[in-house]
Amino acid sequence: MSGEERTRVLVIMAHPDDPEFSCGGTIARWVREGRYVGYVLITSGDKGSEDPTMTPERLRKTREAEQRAAAAVLGVHEVHFLRYPDGELFPTQELRRDIVYHIRRFRPHIVVCQDPTAYYFEDYYINHPDHRAAGEAVLAAVFPLARDRLNFPEHEAAGLSPHKVREVYITTTPNPTTWVDITDVLELKLQAILQHKSQVKDPEALIARWRERLQYKDEQGRVRYREGFRVMHLS
Ligand SMILES: [Zn+2]
Repeated sequence: MSGEERTRVLVIMAHPDDPEFSCGGTIARWVREGRYVGYVLITSGDKGSEDPTMTPERLRKTREAEQRAAAAVLGVHEVHFLRYPDGELFPTQELRRDIVYHIRRFRPHIVVCQDPTAYYFEDYYINHPDHRAAGEAVLAAVFPLARDRLNFPEHEAAGLSPHKVREVYITTTPNPTTWVDITDVLELKLQAILQHKSQVKDPEALIARWRERLQYKDEQGRVRYREGFRVMHLS
């Protein structure tokens, strides 16, 4: 099947490693099921280092290479970087335009994004403000901007037509409404996470923590693994 006929999924997130940590198992499952999956990373994570000798330019190259390696583990078909500066993301009209461009180009049935309403998770994690800004810009791009042709008419002039996304999977959300079982692809998700070497200090501890975090018990009491989303079905 060509990329045109398959269910197309576009994952649009703030940083390299966000897709793998938040929904790498679901992505691996979708690829196995024959869906065509693309990534758009808004920043290249060029501030995420404690190394006193690191520069944003060197870090950008490292993190883009790690992201491509992680995407390859999951079988993702396309990876694009918008190269906005890390740590400075706002849902501006410029960012919305760039996201709308990719939605109109890729023409996804499903868009996956981060939850713009999540300021914190329980009592241990303040959500990265780039995640909120990315989620807000993506939702605005999905509805109404990519759908209505009078928004960003320069896209039409460039040969792109308006596009209506059917479903949105919102991840990194404190209020999931849908769970995807990832037990069969858990090892792929964990392998993909480990490709982000510059972000992983203690691989064994990280993997142990994620196994625990993703775990649940099914009706027979067996240990399984899952990822949660708020899923919107757009009419
Ligand atoms: Zn992030």
